[in-house]
Amino acid sequence: MRYYALAIDGPAGAGKSSVAKMLAAKLKYTYIDTGAMYRAITYKALELKIDISNPNEFDFIDKTIMEFKNDILYLDGEDVTFKIRSNDVSNNVSVVASHIPVRNKLVFLQQKIALDRNVVMDGRDIGTVVLPNADLKIYMSASVEERARRRFEENVSLGIDTDYQKLIIEIKRRDKIDSSRSYNPLKQANDAIFLDTSHLDIHEVANKIYEMFLNEIHTKRSD
Ligand code: C5P
Repeated sequence: MRYYALAIDGPAGAGKSSVAKMLAAKLKYTYIDTGAMYRAITYKALELKIDISNPNEFDFIDKTIMEFKNDILYLDGEDVTFKIRSNDVSNNVSVVASHIPVRNKLVFLQQKIALDRNVVMDGRDIGTVVLPNADLKIYMSASVEERARRRFEENVSLGIDTDYQKLIIEIKRRDKIDSSRSYNPLKQANDAIFLDTSHLDIHEVANKIYEMFLNEIHTKRSD
């Protein structure tokens, strides 16, 4: 059986997760939010009070169970949807995600998930590292102001204490760490389609990608 994959990458607040969720629902594919996985490991590291700057302290990942059920991530059996969106996690996740052992383990898990199902996966390195053979790769971005505005609204809707100016600083800081790390940085794959979503409605973006994806799959099926 052949499985299909749609890879969506881009910086924080570009609209990836909203679009990816809509597309997964429309296509009846499994949605995998890889950012949530890095956040969950960060949350657990903070709970364990390990030195998060030390990549050698992350052996606990081998004994950690992460599962997606209906788009919800369960960490060792617990629904951590809200806990992984805290400011503490947001401020530390990029450092955790820069550790090679952490990335290798999560990339392995993400590739394993995509082996036996159709997926829409979003993150920073999906098109470049996790699923280099994805059927369609999208790289989404938007201005920092617009991305901060979206994160602000998302946080408000989740009941998370938030501040627009602080979000601009946090997003800029995360962009810098994510795109400058030496191992698997945030980068547009050579064969990815770039979409600037600053002035686009999220539904328009999802529809556009949906058409492109169906086209791609149709062409492959008729080969
Ligand atoms: O997507 P989200 O903003 O929740 O991701 C949180 C952080 O996880 C990112 O800022 C980045 O440091 C890390 N990440 C990553 N690679 C991915 C997904 C997320 O490094 N594939």
